[in-house]
Amino acid sequence: MGWLIVPDITDERVVCQSPCNHRDCAVMREQWGESKCRICGEGFKAGQRFYYEDGVAIHADCLEDETLKQTQR
Ligand SMILES: [Zn+2]
Ligand SMILES: [Zn+2]
Repeated sequence: MGWLIVPDITDERVVCQSPCNHRDCAVMREQWGESKCRICGEGFKAGQRFYYEDGVAIHADCLEDETLKQTQR
């Protein structure tokens, strides 16, 4: 399972910075504007690594920390 990079939704090339009707832009704004990591409860910043787990984004650092704890138990 590979990690992905959080897109920069303040970048015009990623999401239109003015109101628009693009489905992709709406999805991006919704996904990254409000979403919080399930493990640490923090938001996502552009450029952070993340994984999708059950369709939910989680910081790669948080998930790797947790996986490490589990394997060390
Ligand atoms: Zn757009
Ligand atoms: Zn996190």
